[in-house]
Amino acid sequence: MNIILFGPPGSGKGTQADNLVRDYNLYKISTGDLLREEVKKESSLGNEIKKFIDKGIFVTDEIIKNLIENIISNKKYFNNIIFDGYPRNLNQAKNLSILIKKYNQKIARVFSFKVDQNVVLKRLSGRQVCSKCGLIFNEFFNPSTENNHKCDSKFLQKRSDDNDKTVKIRFDIYNKETLPVLDFYKNQNLLSEIDGMKQINAIYGEIREIIHSL
Ligand code: AMP
Repeated sequence: MNIILFGPPGSGKGTQADNLVRDYNLYKISTGDLLREEVKKESSLGNEIKKFIDKGIFVTDEIIKNLIENIISNKKYFNNIIFDGYPRNLNQAKNLSILIKKYNQKIARVFSFKVDQNVVLKRLSGRQVCSKCGLIFNEFFNPSTENNHKCDSKFLQKRSDDNDKTVKIRFDIYNKETLPVLDFYKNQNLLSEIDGMKQINAIYGEIREIIHSL
């Protein structure tokens, strides 16, 4: 089962992807995470990518295309992927359809999270990511505790692009470039719209119900 999670920055895609990875045999593929890993390597590609991320704008479709084909062509991930933050524009969505066909796979469902931009700004200001295990927390709404997180709290980090100025740019680009992708999936009867303002567990319950009905 391949699933796409769709939504603006801070809409909870990553958190729900972590839930799905925990309970189903799926791999989370976040293009943002893959890009940040490349940045950490300080390779020439990584340094190039950093410039885009720091400005809050998209990296080129060409960079994304190579990252994604490496994943989809890998047998380890065959039909078991949660795409988090990809595809982000119509060109990427069309390319994904081509790759899915080429490697004999299917998109089972696309979940789109709807949220209020003002609330999301607060969420993003509290977002923390564990640099060791990759889990996502929020110091206000979903803090890391002994029960939900095994790593030491010293690994919790803020993302450099979670500042008001960059978030505003990321939102604007989402509305302009990414929202049109919804129609692409709606027309294929693959879209489920989710109220991303509910509690994390309520949202997850809704997603599970839909998955079990597939
Ligand atoms: P995210 O972790 O999904 O919030 O992504 C962080 C940043 O990585 C974005 O603001 C973009 O600069 C870049 N990025 C992530 N995914 C994509 C994508 N599919 N296409 C283009 N840029 C991306």
